[in-house]
Amino acid sequence: VASAMSVLELHDLHVTYRTDGGSVPAVRGVNLSLDTGDTVGLAGESGCGKSTIAGAVLRLLPKGTEVSGKVLLDGEDVYAMKPGRLRAVRWTSAAIVFQGALHSLNPVRRVGLQIEEAILLHSQQSARSARIRVGELLEKVGLPAGQAERYPHQLSGGQRQRVLIALALACEPKLLIADEPTTALDVMVQAQVLRLLEELQREHGLSLLFITHDLSVLTHTCDRVAVMYAGRIAEIGPVAEVIHRPAHPYTVGLMGSIPAMDEERERLLQIDGAMPRLSAIPAGCAFNPRCPQA
Ligand code: ADP
Ligand code: MG
Repeated sequence: VASAMSVLELHDLHVTYRTDGGSVPAVRGVNLSLDTGDTVGLAGESGCGKSTIAGAVLRLLPKGTEVSGKVLLDGEDVYAMKPGRLRAVRWTSAAIVFQGALHSLNPVRRVGLQIEEAILLHSQQSARSARIRVGELLEKVGLPAGQAERYPHQLSGGQRQRVLIALALACEPKLLIADEPTTALDVMVQAQVLRLLEELQREHGLSLLFITHDLSVLTHTCDRVAVMYAGRIAEIGPVAEVIHRPAHPYTVGLMGSIPAMDEERERLLQIDGAMPRLSAIPAGCAFNPRCPQA
């Protein structure tokens, strides 16, 4: 049921990768909708299909990948867009911050210039006003304007992640998809970046789809949370409800695996067993083989 207000709607989204080893059904019928200003967390262990959803939204998946169902950005069918329209929509309607900032930035170009280029490519501004905007953006993400002159390797991991967020905000998108934006960072810097996303979200009424394997980072950042398992949403609801009164046994397991601040990251997942191979998903609930209540 389409609503005129929705910034993003996924209707029965299926994504299947084609590999030499056969088909990999990574997303298997996902429905999700974000209204203006909504913040939704997408959680679940590694390999459950979170990044595939992010890639599907802006058609960034490898050639040959099969996508069915509907992806609507502001009511417009992303998979019906002509190439020019798609280019215009990327960055300006929706922007993605991917994990691992170092790889998304060009190592041999100053970071300010990279942001400036994105602005010039996607708007009608003069070079001069674009440069001013770069300074504003860096300030917004808590970096001194002088950092514009630096190369990516001269910045810390947290600073690079801030540059990527500035880059994503450069064209004032309505929707920001943040795919594990804090995973590579230490706990202190992680908290700073989360606070920054929260502020930006409040200030700009941005809709935010926050992807993470770590449920604990969603508690302060998101209104709603969707828990994914083996390509499907196992449970979705207000964050307090999902965390304090989880309905799905998988969510219970995920919650139980949130570590104390000082615990080793390796201990994150304490649910016995592993997610099924996507080429051999059992019938019925895919969590069944690991479910203590099955
Ligand atoms: P997550 O982000 O939740 O860790 P992904 O969306 O990256 O999960 O991956 C979901 C599944 O799709 C995994 O089994 C992964 O191995 C598979 N996959 C991801 N990208 C590709 C690809 N380009 N080709 C084939 N399989 C892929
Ligand atoms: Mg991922």
